[in-house]
Amino acid sequence: MDVAGAAVIMSVIPLPSTLSKFMQYVSTRGQAPAQSFSQILLGGLAPDGGLYLPAEYPQVSGAELDAWRKLSYADLALEVLKKFATDIPEADLKALTRKTYTAAVYRNTRVGDKAAEITPLRVLEEKNGSKLILQALSNGPTLAFKDMAMQLLGNLFEYTLAKQHAELNIFGATSGDTGSAAEYAMRGKKGIRVFMLSPHKKMSAFQTAQMFSLQDPNIFNLAIEGVFDDCQDMVKAVSNDLEFKTRQKIGTVNSINWARVVAQVVYYFRGYLSVTTGNDQKVSFTVPSGNFGNICAGHIARMMGLPIDKLVAATNENDVLDEFFRTGVYRVRKSAETYHTSSPSMDISKASNFERFIYDLLGRDGDRVRALFQKVETQGGFDLSGKPGSDGDEFSRIAQYGFQSGKSTHQDRLDTIRDVEDDYGVMIDTHTADGVKVAREYMTPGVPMIVLETALPAKFNETILEALGRDAERPAGFEDIEALPQRFEVMAADVVQVKAFIAGHTGL
Ligand SMILES: *Cc1c(COP(=O)(O)O)cnc(C)c1O
Repeated sequence: MDVAGAAVIMSVIPLPSTLSKFMQYVSTRGQAPAQSFSQILLGGLAPDGGLYLPAEYPQVSGAELDAWRKLSYADLALEVLKKFATDIPEADLKALTRKTYTAAVYRNTRVGDKAAEITPLRVLEEKNGSKLILQALSNGPTLAFKDMAMQLLGNLFEYTLAKQHAELNIFGATSGDTGSAAEYAMRGKKGIRVFMLSPHKKMSAFQTAQMFSLQDPNIFNLAIEGVFDDCQDMVKAVSNDLEFKTRQKIGTVNSINWARVVAQVVYYFRGYLSVTTGNDQKVSFTVPSGNFGNICAGHIARMMGLPIDKLVAATNENDVLDEFFRTGVYRVRKSAETYHTSSPSMDISKASNFERFIYDLLGRDGDRVRALFQKVETQGGFDLSGKPGSDGDEFSRIAQYGFQSGKSTHQDRLDTIRDVEDDYGVMIDTHTADGVKVAREYMTPGVPMIVLETALPAKFNETILEALGRDAERPAGFEDIEALPQRFEVMAADVVQVKAFIAGHTGL
């Protein structure tokens, strides 16, 4: 889990009762008032501790799907987004999506990628009537899929804050990917500052350079003398200090943010539409998974009527999700049982977006979801296997939702990176390698399998070197990133000092 923290405290102006004409969002724990898209945009958890989901999934017709096949990525994003963000005028959404999904932001840096496709696909192999395809989600500024959603979030936040004449100070902790995606999304945005804690000298040189080379005056990198857990503890301490949090207008951008999930729904549509010619065809996706944010978007696309056959969750050695999809038992891990792996962005002990799927699996019974996730806190998990003494038998219904899973190890990653390079001349990163390894176990004749590429190999050079005996290719513009001037503050792991720094730079 990367950026930590709780719900944002912003004075949201109560809207009149005409609100009901907008799409309503409900909490998975059933005890929070329904809200509109804009009301939950800047927030985190619902007040009852649950996660927001639309009261009903908007549906996509076959005719719509056919019409969407020829749209640009930006215009496809508009079509999907306007089904969810019904309280934002369409013309404004159009301006936001067109500003976000441009060839300049998603630079298609790799040889062979066609310009302006945003998420280009390439067929790796075609065997026994089924294709294995990579969909690149990592052409954004930080070379990882989190840019796909975070870039839109930056523009949506700026737009909404300007309307409310409000400002927001994003505070989080990062060990790598999410922090840099957030900073690149929020840099130069009016009304927004970012204060990001990271463990001093613990990130890779590449990741450090990506974050610390940002010179924008609204971005503050605080390098903490400690480990990631110290950073995370300070974020928790601040989010428990309601007075400070309110006065300083502190918010977060963690992976449970609903707008991030919606932005991710778009590329499932894009992938499907790119490999099919008619809506009678089905496609499967394999998704390298950690916090279940990415694959949750696939679940939502499927619930909207996108003809997805299988949704395959690929995990690394941290196999909480694989265990659940194989057995129906959800057992979160303690920090001591969470391994540091060579696909570090999937090193999670519990999957923060998983509750959204469980809510649907349980027929949207908020009371049961609340009880199960309280049990996660008190007893470390729950059991839906249907065995005597279990918490339910919904495991038997998982197939209806298309979910399958598999896991991959360090050795699998090395082998897969080598295979894909040898056989197809394509260098993939460690997380995508977990995806390819598992995807190969679920190929079905006649159904294309799309693996979501979640990062470029340049971010994980050590493992590339180990697998291939040479350095990862670096996209244009990143050749000398470590040599750029860096802007950061070193600070003790002391929450008093961190708070003083924030207050000193917000003027609040
Ligand atoms: C965040 C991340 C993942 C995991 O995505 P979730 O939404 O947390 O499941 C996988 N790969 C990379 C490179 C990531 O940055």
